[in-house]
Amino acid sequence: MTEPKEDTVEKRSLNFIEAIVEEDLQTGRYHGKVHTRFPPEPNGYLHIGHAKAICLDFGIAEKYGGKCNLRFDDTNPIKEDVEYVDSIKEDIRWLGFDWEDREYFASDYFGRLFDFAIDLIKKGMAYVDDQSSDEIASQKGTPTEAGTPSPYRERSVEENLDLFHRMNAGEFPEGARVLRARIDMASPNMHMRDPVIYRILHHPHHRTGDTWKVYPMYDFAHGQSDYFEGVTHSLCTLEFEVHRPLYDWLVEHLKENSYRPRQIEFNRLNLTYTVLSKRVLLEMVKKGYVHGWDDPRMPTLTGLRRRGYTPEAIRNFNDSIGYTKVMANNDIGLLEFAVREDLNKRTSRVMAVLNPLKVIITNYPEDKTEQLEIINNPEDESMGSRTIPFSREIYIEKEDFMEDPPRKFFRLGPGREVRLKSAYIVRCEDFKKNSEGNIVEVYCTYDEATRSGGPEANRKVKGTLHWVSARHALEAEVRLYDRLFNDPEPAGHKDKDPFDFLNPGSLKVITGYVEPSLKEAKPLDHFQFQRLGYFNVDPDSTRGKLVFNRTVPLRDTWSKRR
Ligand code: ATP
Ligand code: MG
Repeated sequence: MTEPKEDTVEKRSLNFIEAIVEEDLQTGRYHGKVHTRFPPEPNGYLHIGHAKAICLDFGIAEKYGGKCNLRFDDTNPIKEDVEYVDSIKEDIRWLGFDWEDREYFASDYFGRLFDFAIDLIKKGMAYVDDQSSDEIASQKGTPTEAGTPSPYRERSVEENLDLFHRMNAGEFPEGARVLRARIDMASPNMHMRDPVIYRILHHPHHRTGDTWKVYPMYDFAHGQSDYFEGVTHSLCTLEFEVHRPLYDWLVEHLKENSYRPRQIEFNRLNLTYTVLSKRVLLEMVKKGYVHGWDDPRMPTLTGLRRRGYTPEAIRNFNDSIGYTKVMANNDIGLLEFAVREDLNKRTSRVMAVLNPLKVIITNYPEDKTEQLEIINNPEDESMGSRTIPFSREIYIEKEDFMEDPPRKFFRLGPGREVRLKSAYIVRCEDFKKNSEGNIVEVYCTYDEATRSGGPEANRKVKGTLHWVSARHALEAEVRLYDRLFNDPEPAGHKDKDPFDFLNPGSLKVITGYVEPSLKEAKPLDHFQFQRLGYFNVDPDSTRGKLVFNRTVPLRDTWSKRR
């Protein structure tokens, strides 16, 4: 038997949540059980921030042999929809996680939550308040000053029971009354100052229809749902830290047994040049600033998938930034780096010319076509090779030719030689301009001995260019994306709207030419276009028309541009 080599195992110190979980496992707090949940509200599509929570919730369960539930937090029927439920499931699966048969809805617990509320009323721990939300807010006090008790705080249990049942029977309009927990109007924690736990909503629910006219607030549903499901570690973002005393108070008063789920908060993901707010993203869709939730410029998982981001890249990115208690604004360049790193390994490098300039190889026979062999990915031989056609007329990028190049320009210019990738070394003899002075054709000669694999293939030349055969290339629509916002913190300005920072150049559509092997490419297939970047096939592609998205350029050009 050979021992596993220590140095082959990548060692990472535990993050603070893993440390807590390991301690709970050691002390037997949950009898060796680890059970987490991911609790999306089905009121929008998931975004890259949610992916951070998903990787943690499912990742912790995976690492410690536990389970992770998917629980839809559907306590607000007004904003929620089955469309969102379906998209959320698709996105979590795409990231590579599985909740098996544990798909739950907070609305599954409406009956038990209602009974719990009745129970609290009976114990004098909840009361119906007839005041408006403004009045209630005005009595909350400040963190240093106690709040003012509601005039309805001392209502009798009988009256509270009667009113709460009538609230649920639909006798009162929305906003007329709420149910509040009776905790402590002088608590230093504002969330403990008699929080509202139920409100009236006359809106059919996407799952329970017209059964309920009162709906629990998030805080009244969340901890109890964790409790009902046997969740051990309820992981959420830092803004819920101040809700934790209320979370604990509520599960404490459920008092069915001694088990208590524990809430642990971590730092949410913020990304530069990005807005991660469902409200803003919904507005972008509604106002038509983007073409939908799956617009490749959106930070939604459906948008990133269409753009060509991979689940592996997103998971690696989350691993690299880690989980702490420190709020941060992560550089979007880190996410793009993870995408490049992953696609570099898995994509074939193909030829595409996006800004074509015709090159005519004057000493190459007019009717000849050669099939030249080209390696798919030099980083991974197992990906094999393919052939590409070469002929007398080819396209290169306009930027790869200069009439009067500086000395350090290692591309094509009059009298200069370059290598055409996997083909021949060619020498520029002449060029032609149109009446406006633009270069429209370049004339070269080739040297047969320099053919890739031939006797003089290794002759030294400074530059290598990508190219496509003009006669064989396929026309393609290419969508070049740039950042949606041109400010590093579009949502971080008090007096301005994120929409004030929309980048007008975030989408540029051009026509390019790609090598003929891409004819068979299917939607979402990934490629590296040699020297240009990573691209994928957009689902808008049809048999007659190829459409590509630029996933990410080959290098981080953004930081240089600013
Ligand atoms: P809402 O304003 O609608 O509540 P939300 O982004 O909090 O928006 P939820 O559906 O409630 O949406 O989020 C589900 C889970 O994802 C929550 O546990 C939340 O803490 C987590 N989450 C949301 N945004 C981020 C983020 N940017 N980084 C990390 N986790 C996030
Ligand atoms: Mg939320």
